[in-house]
Amino acid sequence: MKALKAIEGREVWFLTGSQGLYGEDTLRQVAVQSCRIAETLGDSPGMPVHIVWKPVLTDAGAIRRVCLDANADDACIGLIAWMHTFSPAKMWISGLDALRKPLLHLHTQANAALPWASIDMDFMNLNQAAHGDREFGHIQSRLGVARKTVAGHVTDPSVADRIASWARAAAGRAELRGLKLARFGDNMRDVAVTEGDKVEAQLRFGVSVNTYGVNDLVEAVDAAADGEITELVKEYEDTYRLAPELRADGDRHESLRYAARIELGLRGFLADGGFQAFTTNFEDLGGLRQLPGLAVQRLMADGYGFGGEGDWKTSVLLRTLKVMSAGLVGGTSFMEDYTYHLEPGRELILGAHMLEVCPTIASDVPSCEVHPLGIGGREDPVRLVFDARTGPAIVVGLADMGDRFRMVVNEIDVVEPLEPLPHLPVARAVWQPRPNLRTSTEAWLTAGAPHHTVLSGAIGTEELADLADMLATELLVIDADTTIRQFTKEIRWNQAYHRLAQGF
Ligand code: MN
Repeated sequence: MKALKAIEGREVWFLTGSQGLYGEDTLRQVAVQSCRIAETLGDSPGMPVHIVWKPVLTDAGAIRRVCLDANADDACIGLIAWMHTFSPAKMWISGLDALRKPLLHLHTQANAALPWASIDMDFMNLNQAAHGDREFGHIQSRLGVARKTVAGHVTDPSVADRIASWARAAAGRAELRGLKLARFGDNMRDVAVTEGDKVEAQLRFGVSVNTYGVNDLVEAVDAAADGEITELVKEYEDTYRLAPELRADGDRHESLRYAARIELGLRGFLADGGFQAFTTNFEDLGGLRQLPGLAVQRLMADGYGFGGEGDWKTSVLLRTLKVMSAGLVGGTSFMEDYTYHLEPGRELILGAHMLEVCPTIASDVPSCEVHPLGIGGREDPVRLVFDARTGPAIVVGLADMGDRFRMVVNEIDVVEPLEPLPHLPVARAVWQPRPNLRTSTEAWLTAGAPHHTVLSGAIGTEELADLADMLATELLVIDADTTIRQFTKEIRWNQAYHRLAQGF
């Protein structure tokens, strides 16, 4: 019986390379030992997917076959390959050339310690990854195969952790391949950075992005049944700290009931259409009486991707990170860089949105409130208000640079607000960007990265770097080591690299 994994139904196949020359006895030992290594990895506490061991590969036909099978199997999100013994790498050419799934090259060996006193030529012949994996590294580089290389013994937790990060990225990539996003209305008028090439996104990432008339949603909202609304309102009462005016005996209870109506309609629309991500636009609300706030926050908490003002790229990113972070603590939310604290030496960013911040990043039970919005000219929307949990996190944005997508990550530390914010009626996060506000913002602006981001305390730079590699998408990282001089050079080099990598 397989234990339940954080990312359900996804597998990574474990391939072991060898050759027929070794004879049956040695190949049997190779099989036993590689099976044990696959099991050790699969059982490591942070591994989010099943590791499936495949029989030892000794010829080109079998290698090509397993690569084609991996391509065709939706459960398989990637391959780990290890050359336990020497596997002449011309055997791998047709298989690797056909492979369309992410690849991780594991450079390890069965034994951690060298048996100094007993080592003989039999042992030497059985444990040859030191040169078998070099042969494999060569052919991958010779063919230009994108992969992650991880070296070390599998009992070293950092080895299993790095493989787990890669597996999470592979799960994100797999999610993107079949992702459907519904946009209610288009982008906010005249905004540049939320635009993008949806055809290129479908080719590069797999996601399909399509617009629906907001009044199709209104129809679903209007059709919500009174009984279901009452039940959902009860759930709100049990889950959040409800403002007195929203309670059953409060004079604005009707606003809460309408918020519940939006949630039921939106949830039904997304479920019926098989959508895992969506956008709204406050400029285009059709017959909706409130801008969806509470509903969007709760759908994000359930794993849906979301972007405000028609921002489908950030919505796609949010859904991807939600899948990648399954089972991890820390939370992941739509976010916007809003305003600064520029006191010298204590510079901070206050991030929030009009309404739509995901309660998975809340430090405490959110408060459910209703306030005017001051924009859009609709009824006051209901929303959850809270401070974000403190600790290390990342913000990541996705921009369309015209000839390619660019992902930018900033490592940050979410901190307590310096003082309470009693008059701020939205959920918010306060953070210190690394290395500091000046370098972080200068780098972010130089990269042309967006004001909408995904903030995650669960996913880190390593997973995003793996994801960017799998998607052949540019990634720029702003972290504790960033200097503007180096970062600017990196942007220039990337411009050249990504244009060349597109071919002619
Ligand atoms: Mn916004």
